[in-house]
Amino acid sequence: MPEIKFYKHDPLPMEMHKVKIVQKLNLLPVRDRLNKIKEAGFNTFLLHNGDIFMDMLTDSGVNAMSDEMQSAMLRADDAYAGSETFYRMRDKLEDIFGIKYLLPTHQGRACEHIIARHFVKPGNCIIMNYHFTTSKAHITTLGGRVEELVKDEGLIAKSTLPFKGNIDLDKVKACIEKEGAENIPYIRIEAGTNLIGGQPISYENMKAVTELVKPYGIVTVLDASLLQDNLYFIKTREESMKDKSIREITRMIADLFDVIYFSARKFGFCRGGGILVRDEKMFHDMEDYITLYEGFLTYGGMSVKEMEAMTIGFEETMDFDVISQGPQFIKHCVDVLDDYGVPMITPGGGLGAHINAKEVLSHIPSEEYPAGALTAALYLCGGIRGMERGTMSEERNPDGSERIASVEMVRLAFPRRVFTLSQTEYVIDRVKWLYDHRDLVGGLRFVHEPKTLRFFTGRLEPVSDWPEKLVEAYAAEFGEDQ
Ligand SMILES: *Cc1c(COP(=O)(O)O)cnc(C)c1O
Repeated sequence: MPEIKFYKHDPLPMEMHKVKIVQKLNLLPVRDRLNKIKEAGFNTFLLHNGDIFMDMLTDSGVNAMSDEMQSAMLRADDAYAGSETFYRMRDKLEDIFGIKYLLPTHQGRACEHIIARHFVKPGNCIIMNYHFTTSKAHITTLGGRVEELVKDEGLIAKSTLPFKGNIDLDKVKACIEKEGAENIPYIRIEAGTNLIGGQPISYENMKAVTELVKPYGIVTVLDASLLQDNLYFIKTREESMKDKSIREITRMIADLFDVIYFSARKFGFCRGGGILVRDEKMFHDMEDYITLYEGFLTYGGMSVKEMEAMTIGFEETMDFDVISQGPQFIKHCVDVLDDYGVPMITPGGGLGAHINAKEVLSHIPSEEYPAGALTAALYLCGGIRGMERGTMSEERNPDGSERIASVEMVRLAFPRRVFTLSQTEYVIDRVKWLYDHRDLVGGLRFVHEPKTLRFFTGRLEPVSDWPEKLVEAYAAEFGEDQ
């Protein structure tokens, strides 16, 4: 379906579905939100969902299911071993990706755990276009190291580059020469590169890098968690692919990789995960980890109802109308805010709109977590829950010093098929207000700092009484009840 045309209006992103089931939202008054964020240690992960108006923390496990997915849940075959549901899921994945062997897991990071367990030895180097928090943590926990070789341009916040997730082939070559191929068990290519703003990687780049590393015996691994957005961008931005169907593009990508894993909390609109393995022996070698850590081989920690629904979700992902909606809403949000002068990561990618917190709060040093501060401030200014993606999301260096993130962002995720355009407009409005009052925002410091993945459960406090001042200004603008 082409873009919907309007008679009296500029084109708008369009919901290609109608609402069948709803959940009521709650907008707490601004001073109540101040109490809630204090209780949550200024960490939006620790807020209760009932205290949030627009939950844009993540797209993980919060995407809307379709009627077809819900009805499929009824026919799920509840068996510990040999569930028919598993075989339907496996067959659908084989139909789409052309890979026969499936290891089911409870979510995306479980795939990363198992792949890392299988491949990583202390001292190993894993090449990536860019890391994801959990993929890196599993590798480093096992004594491995990560080399992020995304092209330099990918890290420039304001850009018009269509594929900012592309890996730098010269850097890959140099890395293999330096490390020695025997020290690099696999290369991990992330579709829809999460931590640099959901930015896609081109088919051409995936093909070139996999062709480059294969002669060295380096295993090629695709993190397909955000593949659905990446497919949309390949079809709409890569000239040579514009006449191909989403299904054809998916298959061409899959053919490049030895192993493909995904979080079905994103890919498939459900909750779960899976690893597709091309080689039979490699598959059997990994099986033991599934039974040890996940569950039996035909459910891997997932509910069969979810598996039945995601099987339909995989098929829906092959529908261009379905996968267009997220990127189009994100583009609208990014473009309008960019026009308003708010520093955004451009061009808009998949998964969410990303605010360049480093630039918005240039008066806050990285050691006081500008992205964390802006995320907390946005909850105060509208009940909007985003996610910090910056220095707070890094782990400290071995000597205890901060590892300063190369990008400092607030992510406003657009869970797929969840929010309407008026809700999107509300978010745009509040972000613009906060931007105009950015001088009121100050830094944060940890009062409880976990060693691993500290951003999930760490607690912080403001370095001054800036939250009170911000709330005063907000209440003066919008009233005490907003
Ligand atoms: C979310 C995500 C994961 C982890 O998936 P979970 O199901 O949340 O554990 C891995 N890789 C990427 C690119 C992701 O976006």
